[in-house]
Amino acid sequence: MPLVSMRQLLDEAAKGGYGVGAFNVNNMEQIQAIMEAARETESPVIVQASRGARSYSQDKFLYHLMLAATELYPEIPTVLHQDHGNSPETCKSAIELGFTSVMMDGSLQADGKTPSSYEYNVDVTRQVVATAHAKGVTVEAEIGCLGGIEDGHGAGGSGMEHLTDPGEAERFVKDTHCDALAIAIGTSHGAYKFTRKPDGEVLKMDVLIEIHKRLPKTHLVMHGSSSVPKDLQDIINKYGGSLKPTWGVPVEEIQLGIKNGVRKINVDTDNRLAMTGAIRKVLMETPEKFDPRDYMKPARDAMKKVVAQRMVEFGQAGKAKSIIPIPLPEMAEMYKKELVGA
Ligand SMILES: [Zn+2]
Repeated sequence: MPLVSMRQLLDEAAKGGYGVGAFNVNNMEQIQAIMEAARETESPVIVQASRGARSYSQDKFLYHLMLAATELYPEIPTVLHQDHGNSPETCKSAIELGFTSVMMDGSLQADGKTPSSYEYNVDVTRQVVATAHAKGVTVEAEIGCLGGIEDGHGAGGSGMEHLTDPGEAERFVKDTHCDALAIAIGTSHGAYKFTRKPDGEVLKMDVLIEIHKRLPKTHLVMHGSSSVPKDLQDIINKYGGSLKPTWGVPVEEIQLGIKNGVRKINVDTDNRLAMTGAIRKVLMETPEKFDPRDYMKPARDAMKKVVAQRMVEFGQAGKAKSIIPIPLPEMAEMYKKELVGA
C-alpha cells in the first residue's frame, strides 16, 4: 500500500486506545529493521527522518528506500514523517518530496535552538497546517521545549526549563488546528535524559494528564521517550564503549501516557544503542572480520528486536490489518469539509 497519513493512524490508535512508535532512520538497515519488526508484530508504523537524516541520505536515497519498504511490506500501513521541521520551508520541502506527515517545531526559532514566542509558534504552525492539510498531509506541532540536543536540534538543558503549560496548549490547538501535539513534560533528547530512575519530580506525568483533560481529542506526542535500558548500555560498555550511567523514560510511564491521550511515541536512542552494541561486540570478539555485513546484520537484528518489543508494549501490535488506507487527496477533502478537526 502507499504511504499513509499519520492522522489516520493516530485516529485509529485513539479509537483502539493504543500508541504508535515513531522510529528514526538514516539508512537502509534501520528501515529494514523497523519494517521487519512491523511485519513480525503486524503493526502499523511511523518512520521518521530528522533534518540531519535527510541531509545524510541526500533526501532521495531515504525517500526511495521508503518506497521500497512500501513495495516489500505492502500489508504494513506506513507513515513517513518529518521529525522537528525547523521552518515552514523545511516542512514544505518534505511534503514536496512525498512525506505524509510533518512536524513544524515552532517552539524553537528557525535556528532549532532558541525558544520562540507563542505568537511565532502559532504563525509558523498555521502556515504549515494550511499547506499540509490542502494535500492531506498531517501536522504535528510542539508547545513547550524539550531538554537536550540531538542532531544539532534542541533547547538544551534538563527538560524542566520550558515545561508545557496546559492552558497554553489548549489555546494553541484552537489557534492552529494541528493534528498532533508534542508536549514537554521533563523528557530530553539523546541518551542522557535522567541521572536517576525518574519520578514525579523530573517526569511530569501530572502535566500530561492535565493537558489530556483539556484536550481529550488531541493526539499527544511524547518526544525523547527512549527507555535507555541498562542491558543495552552494558553491552556497549562491555565491548569497549564508555557510556556514563543514565536513565530513560520507563515503559510503564509511557503506558500511563497512552492511557492519557499519548498516541505517538518517539524512540531513537534505544535503537542507536542496540545497533552500536551489536557492532562493538562483533568487532571486539572477531577482530579479523572486515566485511561490513558481518556487523551490519547483527546490528539490524538488534534494532529489530528493540522495535518489535516497543510495538508490543505500545499496543500497536496486531493492528495493521484493521487499517484501510485513506488516499491523501481524500484526506485533503476531509480536512476541507472539516470531517477531521482539531
Ligand atoms: Zn523530538
